[in-house]
Amino acid sequence: MPTKRVPVAEILDRLSHMYPDAKCALEHTSPFELLIATVLSAQCTDVRVNIVTRRMFPTHNQPEHFAAITPAEIGEMIRDCGLWQSKAKNIHETCRILLEQHGGEVPASMAELVKLPGVGRKTANVVLSNAFDVPAIAVDTHVFRVANRLGLANAGTVEETEQQLMRRIPRELWSQSHHWLIHHGRQICEARKPKCSECPLLDLCKYGQSALKDAAKAAKADAKRLTKSGVSKAGRSRAVAAKEGELH
Ligand code: SF4
Repeated sequence: MPTKRVPVAEILDRLSHMYPDAKCALEHTSPFELLIATVLSAQCTDVRVNIVTRRMFPTHNQPEHFAAITPAEIGEMIRDCGLWQSKAKNIHETCRILLEQHGGEVPASMAELVKLPGVGRKTANVVLSNAFDVPAIAVDTHVFRVANRLGLANAGTVEETEQQLMRRIPRELWSQSHHWLIHHGRQICEARKPKCSECPLLDLCKYGQSALKDAAKAAKADAKRLTKSGVSKAGRSRAVAAKEGELH
């Protein structure tokens, strides 16, 4: 469980001021377009997905359009996205199911969405919150990492993280907080090099504080080692600066 002392309200308030315009980055004009774009976004950037869908949606943006062609033809249109062969098969099958079981509409329910091929809880949550205004927290790699670093969750899986976030964040903020955490993960709390020293949440983030302390300790240890081995003062300063720079 997340620790009780994590100032959830303060963290959310700051995030809301840092990313006031945060919203879904996948371009779409209907629940169906968002569903397809979200399926394409697995292992692919939103920027690349938008390039692909801008080419594809003007002629193919209804289930019947994809059901009428083969998975191989769909694959030709989405080749620039990763895993395009399995995505093409899933899109074809999803469109067949939507036509046969849902009158060609995207269902607005988690239970029905996750029955579609290639649609897991994350994709379903993105569609529910952005297309149907249903409060939901989609846990992608950014949300998982940032929420656990900030102590909003203390979980080993995305499912647990989603459950813990839903317990700790007020329901009316679920959808927005998902966007705030994604934006923070992309802009500051990056996976390999979080920019902790410039992060407005540093005073609330134990992970960031301890990472900076570790970096400073490692830098001091390196400086000592260089002194012993007779490296000049200027050389030591450069080495320490480089070490501290490993964690921005
Ligand atoms: S202080 Fe560092 S680890 Fe914590 S949220 Fe900010 S960037 Fe992420």
